Amino acid sequence: MTQKTITIFQNGVNLSAETSRALTDKLLSRGYIVNDDYTEDTDLIICVGGDGAFLRAIHRCDFPNCPIVGVNTGHLGFFQDVLPSDLDQFIQQYESGEYNVQELNTVRAIVTTADGDKHTHLALNEITIKGRRSYSVHLFISIGSQPIEKFSGDGLIIATSAGSTAYNYSVGGSIADPRLKLLQVTPIAPMNTTAYRSFTSSVLLPAELSLGVVPEQTDGPEAAIYLTNDGNETSYDNVKSIEVRISNTTVHLIRLKGYDFWSKVKDKFL
Ligand code: NAP
Repeated sequence: MTQKTITIFQNGVNLSAETSRALTDKLLSRGYIVNDDYTEDTDLIICVGGDGAFLRAIHRCDFPNCPIVGVNTGHLGFFQDVLPSDLDQFIQQYESGEYNVQELNTVRAIVTTADGDKHTHLALNEITIKGRRSYSVHLFISIGSQPIEKFSGDGLIIATSAGSTAYNYSVGGSIADPRLKLLQVTPIAPMNTTAYRSFTSSVLLPAELSLGVVPEQTDGPEAAIYLTNDGNETSYDNVKSIEVRISNTTVHLIRLKGYDFWSKVKDKFL
């Protein structure tokens, strides 16, 4: 049997470092190759930490092709199924194939700048589009090819179902079961006056529809756009348009027996 390679990431807090050391010893003693950097030989990624550490691991590996499992040393941990006290049980379940792989959809934004350059941003949780610093942002929004509204406010969150329990939920968006392949567009502090009209609730888009965003202003400080993907920020001065849609890239998350999304939601929020 060929040796399997396992890459372990951890977020540097004491419990994660200890857990990662214990896990490494257990895996080495069972004949695995263990490293701390993702390569094309990696068969499994184990991320020790909370949801933030999980997101950083996904981005560091540029959305890996292999499965990933989370060991929770953070808070509740939406992406994690393994506790530091259950490492032996996890290894046994991994070796006997007692798990499912949950395919998590991702969201992709393509920013076209005035000079015609295109910049792609991928996210597991969400893309946000905001103005620079505390400026409100004024955006023409279309769905598919249909112009819908002129948004004015602090910005928009375009969340995947997996990301619906993160920033999206904090600003009043709905919780979406990760089995639903959709995008949720949630306004952040939308202005609704005689001058500006936009939806005040989230809207849900099916996989085949994209969201089109065109900034009203094209120059001056109010024209600047801050785009984040899973909290990673990029600033643009000269955005012509942004297209946001569900990406074909998925994250292959290991789920152990007993995983139930709605139990996690209940434990975290109720
Ligand atoms: P952070 O601001 O340090 O932490 C964000 C918090 O969101 C952490 O408590 C994290 O859980 C939790 N979280 C992340 N993904 C989640 C998910 N899918 N479901 C439920 N909770 C989740 O930032 P970070 O650690 O770098 O994470 C980036 C994420 O922060 C972004 O993708 C965005 O969703 C979120 N965020 C939230 C707000 C807000 O709620 N007001 C504002 C900005 C950004 P752990 O404690 O387990 O790491």
